[in-house]
Amino acid sequence: MPEGPEIRQAADEVAKALVDRPVTEIFFAFDRLKSFEETLTGETITAVRTRGKAMVICFSVPLYIYSHNQLYGRWYVRNLQSYPTTNRQLRLAIHNSKKSALLYSASDIQVLDEHGLATHPFLGRVELDVLDQAVTIEEVVDRFLDKRFHRRQLTSLLLDQHFLGGLGNYLRSEILFVAKVHPSLRPVDCDTGQIQALAQAVLSVTHQSYLTKGITNDLQIVAQLKEQHYKRSDYRHCVFGRQGKPCFLCGTAIVKDIYAGRRLYFCPQCQAL
Ligand SMILES: [Zn+2]
Repeated sequence: MPEGPEIRQAADEVAKALVDRPVTEIFFAFDRLKSFEETLTGETITAVRTRGKAMVICFSVPLYIYSHNQLYGRWYVRNLQSYPTTNRQLRLAIHNSKKSALLYSASDIQVLDEHGLATHPFLGRVELDVLDQAVTIEEVVDRFLDKRFHRRQLTSLLLDQHFLGGLGNYLRSEILFVAKVHPSLRPVDCDTGQIQALAQAVLSVTHQSYLTKGITNDLQIVAQLKEQHYKRSDYRHCVFGRQGKPCFLCGTAIVKDIYAGRRLYFCPQCQAL
């Protein structure tokens, strides 16, 4: 599933193609949205925002296209009316005089008015979006210490969009590794230094992933590994997907385990209990 950084990258690409240009044609695959094709044609797109893993396309009229890619959704931005070769189903297409932004496979697509946007259950659930530049380490620390969350396992919290919007499964393993925290802990089991390290890692790992298109490993280590001709898949992450391979910091074999129903990777030495 695409996580917050990937959705934000897709939103940047869609924004670059669509913002400040009038829509010349729009297509919705779902019958329930067909009536909006006429309403939105000719209107100008003013912004493309993200909230957690959701995208919101804003128009010059008070209407918004909400989409959530879930497991399969994928955006393509192409020159006008040029379509990718894919077996996926086209669900939304927005065209202007130069570009086409095409959303395939996603089923969670809605057109909202102001009220719908303000009361949307998913958007309302995300209280803190880790990709929001305004979020501070202190705010994330407060989240870990919040009584609603501090007795829950970190491994389930770091997947919960209500706890922190935009995180997902690869980010969960990488954040715990960078913070040097064992995956079995709850915030209440951690000392002040560990909470501080977790909050810092939440923001730094996510922002780096956004800026580097998905690289969460230490960038100095990445540079060294590239010189040694490592492939991207072998240097991209610190621990995620690396079971049995040596930790880049200490050489210990990375362990794979299942936490909160999903695969998690960690270094038993760097993240010792
Ligand atoms: Zn290690």
